[in-house]
Amino acid sequence: MPAPTLHHRFADRFPELALPWQAQETDGPELVLLNAGLAEELGLDADWLASDDGLRLLTGERPGPEAKPVAQAYAGHQFGHYSPRLGDGRALLLGELVPPRRTRDADDAPQALPTWRELHLKGSGRTPFARGDADGQAVLGPMLREYAVSEAMHALGVPTTRALAVVATGRPVRRAGWQPGALLARTAASHLRVGSFQYAAALPERADPVAVLRRLVDEAILRHHPHAAEAENPALALYEAVIAAQAELVARWMLVGFVHGVMNTDNMTLSGETIDYGPCAFIDAFDPAASFSSIDTQGRYAFGNQGPVAAWNLARLGETLVPVLDDDAGRAVDLAQEALGGFQATHLAAWRGGLRAKLGLGEEVTDADVAALTDRLFPVLAAARTDWTGFWVRLAEHVASGAGRGNAEASASKLAEAQMLVPGAADPAAVVAWLRDWQSLGPDAARMRAANPVYIPRNHLLDDALTAAEDGDLGPVRRLLEAVTDPFTPRPGLERYAEPGPSDAAPFVTYC
Ligand code: AMP
Ligand code: MG
Ligand code: MG
Repeated sequence: MPAPTLHHRFADRFPELALPWQAQETDGPELVLLNAGLAEELGLDADWLASDDGLRLLTGERPGPEAKPVAQAYAGHQFGHYSPRLGDGRALLLGELVPPRRTRDADDAPQALPTWRELHLKGSGRTPFARGDADGQAVLGPMLREYAVSEAMHALGVPTTRALAVVATGRPVRRAGWQPGALLARTAASHLRVGSFQYAAALPERADPVAVLRRLVDEAILRHHPHAAEAENPALALYEAVIAAQAELVARWMLVGFVHGVMNTDNMTLSGETIDYGPCAFIDAFDPAASFSSIDTQGRYAFGNQGPVAAWNLARLGETLVPVLDDDAGRAVDLAQEALGGFQATHLAAWRGGLRAKLGLGEEVTDADVAALTDRLFPVLAAARTDWTGFWVRLAEHVASGAGRGNAEASASKLAEAQMLVPGAADPAAVVAWLRDWQSLGPDAARMRAANPVYIPRNHLLDDALTAAEDGDLGPVRRLLEAVTDPFTPRPGLERYAEPGPSDAAPFVTYC
């Protein structure tokens, strides 16, 4: 198979945000993990990718004669503080891939831009955007972590960048001690982020920031929100579409118990895909204050704070759009504020809609009914530190087994059921009452099984698997991937992937 064509749309259209750059040479790359399913979707031959030519593409050493790899410039608020110049300090955009058409009726029509995927490397060597003495490298554990979590998120139905491969670079990298260097090849609908707009808006006058912003708006519309092109005010329609996409995305994160951990504006995409899996983690115990990142000391990016923080980030996007929303700045600000006012309603509707599905209830059950149920449930789960994922699985089994039907059963058995569903509940009778009220709404077991994953990348198992990989044994990572890339179907032999970590373990901490 010939090397795939890497287009250079971003590099050509956004020279202000694209620094031509080359990946660092390796002494001989070694393939660690290859995502054959994704390769096929992209029209890439997995065997070719595993060949020397393929590996030299995946490391960025030989991206093909047409390719114009670039390091992207962006700005961003990190933990609320503005940084005018971040950018790809250890990453490269190799270019865009145009996946093959999958339907016959597409005829010879040019491939629509929304299906294009960018191929991007993380850990491909230092660029001028690297800060201070940052080394431009990545190491094996964190790259495998991003691979596993992003592929789990995809399987959970959460929009996300995808992992194509992890390649060992052969470079020893200094972290806590020396660690094996590795890079991740990932794909994304695009890497346009709130921070790209912030960078453009802050360009010097002679670089015509408003013209660059207009081009960014057009690009984000074409690539991600094409319907906005038909609106009377396309820039406003784009802003509204991004608000809606992010409001829904964060709701989906929370439904599966995901804590992103570093929701800086440079880590928020215009496409609505999750990006940058650094210090992320999944909750075991339900806890709105759950926060895992060693650097998030204030809990800014805690589980239950992700909605408000997303809205805060989107306000920063709105500020950059003022000059393109309306010629009258005052009116532009009003438009932006009004659009952002829609965040909460969309976010809550997505959250409650998702909870309705998790509860196995039909569309006839109103959002208010769902809220009334979960407002009673969540404090109970939080107080008992109930495993979020396991609770929903048990609840689905509870319905499937026919338990709780009829009122003739002895109350002792109902209390026992309640204690099984919420171990350690302080008031099992309240759980019994909740179950009765919920079941009166007619939950459906099949609906619950489709909405409640059995397998998520549990923090303790992922950590164990990464440690084994660092010691040369990829078996545990592969088994974990087997579980989490097909998360809704319980399978024999995978029981441990459905269990929370030991409750007496030290609090889980992520580093990035
Ligand atoms: P992140 O917190 O992963 O979104 O990264 C924030 C910024 O730090 C980005 O500009 C990265 O390119 C940069 N960065 C992170 N790690 C490194 C590294 N090892 N070398 C150079 N730059 C890095
Ligand atoms: Mg980032
Ligand atoms: Mg990162």
